[in-house]
Amino acid sequence: MELVPTQDDVVALLRRTGGLRDGHFEYPGGQHITEYLQVALTMRDYQAAKVLSVGLSRKVRANTEIRAMIPELSVVAPATGGLPVAYGVCEALRARQVYWAERENDSEPLHFRQYLEVSKGEKVLLVDDILRTGQKLAEVKKLVEARGGEVVGVAVDFSPLPLYYMAQLDGTYYSSAAACDLCKRGVPFDKVRL
Ligand SMILES: [Zn+2]
Repeated sequence: MELVPTQDDVVALLRRTGGLRDGHFEYPGGQHITEYLQVALTMRDYQAAKVLSVGLSRKVRANTEIRAMIPELSVVAPATGGLPVAYGVCEALRARQVYWAERENDSEPLHFRQYLEVSKGEKVLLVDDILRTGQKLAEVKKLVEARGGEVVGVAVDFSPLPLYYMAQLDGTYYSSAAACDLCKRGVPFDKVRL
């Protein structure tokens, strides 16, 4: 496999490691989709995790402005789920440090651990395994900026948007069960826990 794997390589790797499966799934918001992606299942496999992290870091490194900042760059995950990717990218880039935001329940704002200081003008690369709505990334960006840091880039393994990503997926989305072709054909679905 090349150092930056192709989209086909990545999809094959996801399927082989159980991170991507075909079927009929319902998301908590009621949307139905024909593909299930859970990057954590793929990240169990250390070699697969390495392929994704090294590939993603190479895409980031191709940005000359960010490349110049690498020795002082902080890699920040918006939640603990992004940590395997964040540590992999930090190691591959030889960036300065990794930390993450978290919250105990959905009703409270994201926060960093006690005593974690963001230094003034600190260069931050936000990293996550998957971009869904971008809401959490936007929230952690605000948190970093409120502490005086500067978000210089966003890197995710999987995204529907043109960022730095390893693969774009093409499952068919339906806005609700009523709009879902699989439901109309009576195909049973699995509920997705995020
Ligand atoms: Zn359906």
